[in-house]
Amino acid sequence: MPASLYLHIPFCLKRCIYCDFVSGIYEAGKADEYISALKKEIITIPRDTSFSTLFIGGGTPTALSADVLRDLILHIFNYLSFTHNYEATIEANPGTLDKEKLTVIREAGMNRLSIGTQSLNDDELMLLGRLHNSSDAETAVHMAREAGFENIGIDLIYGIPGQSILSWRNTLEKAVKLKPEHISTYELTVEKGTVLYSRYQEGILKSLDDDLIVEMYNHTIDYLASEGYSHYEISNFAMHGYSCRHNLNYWDRGEYHGVGVGSHSFVNGNRFYNTGNLEDYLKDVSEERIPAAEREDITEEKALSEAVFLGLRKTEGINVESFFKRYGINILSQYQYELSDMQAKGLIEITNSECSYETNLRLTRRGLLLSNEVFVKFI
Ligand code: SF4
Repeated sequence: MPASLYLHIPFCLKRCIYCDFVSGIYEAGKADEYISALKKEIITIPRDTSFSTLFIGGGTPTALSADVLRDLILHIFNYLSFTHNYEATIEANPGTLDKEKLTVIREAGMNRLSIGTQSLNDDELMLLGRLHNSSDAETAVHMAREAGFENIGIDLIYGIPGQSILSWRNTLEKAVKLKPEHISTYELTVEKGTVLYSRYQEGILKSLDDDLIVEMYNHTIDYLASEGYSHYEISNFAMHGYSCRHNLNYWDRGEYHGVGVGSHSFVNGNRFYNTGNLEDYLKDVSEERIPAAEREDITEEKALSEAVFLGLRKTEGINVESFFKRYGINILSQYQYELSDMQAKGLIEITNSECSYETNLRLTRRGLLLSNEVFVKFI
């Protein structure tokens, strides 16, 4: 099976108040040094590996100049082999795009753009500390179409302090009008160490009511379904044929190579974590050391529980027969007690398809809302 490749670009032009990703403020000199290191790490990947997806994420990959991006993308495609129908995504922030950069990225071989829109309400964008406003975000989608992107994803956040259901509905409606092939909607999470966390602690900002969050999530599912988007994962919606194949590979426990600071790899059943410290990463690569700070042994038990909670993220759930073929376990009997408890609570359902005689285990609507409660049962 072809693998996936992830590349991390740890630079942004400005820090958002909720951010706890591996990312710092962009400096041209540091970025050049980092890109040279990335290129060196890329050539440590065995050349006979075949890839079907590539994802350049961050940070803000589009904080880099058009020339630097072209050089990096061409290096990846020149050195590594991709299947003819590969999917190659780059994350982009509206405040860092212009027509020339988008054209360069597209012509270098990227064919999917994931735009960090987050909201189409200017007050909310300002509160989050984003670089762009709603008009920049809309313009970014139009420019991307003109540059030849036929597969565009938009990321949105709900649960922003002060956000009303009306404002969330407006954001979704404006997003749908842009006709993206893919929409991701994430609940705002408050991570320790972020500016958002301090503002909550100091009482400057207040989290939304749980009932309102539930209303927002339910509305998202119903509204996007009515607009033709299929809800294929807890937070992800796509037009037919446009589900993100890169992320599906993670949820299916496929192999992936991660390149760059803080990135993870899953190869031959082993998981590796690159150091999350930029200086350590640069030093390791310059001294020809593998920048993997940690290796995680995946026991059979761990593999099984990962397969269950990752598989349940997908709305189609886990196919019982395929699971048996891959792991040699009948999931229904292995987790009999946990499953009957969760069925009784209305979190999980077992569905049978009459035409294919297939059985799937999947989260109910309530289970999607309370997915973390379900997942801990399998860890
Ligand atoms: S653009 Fe993304 S990675 Fe950069 S600071 Fe904002 S949330 Fe963090």
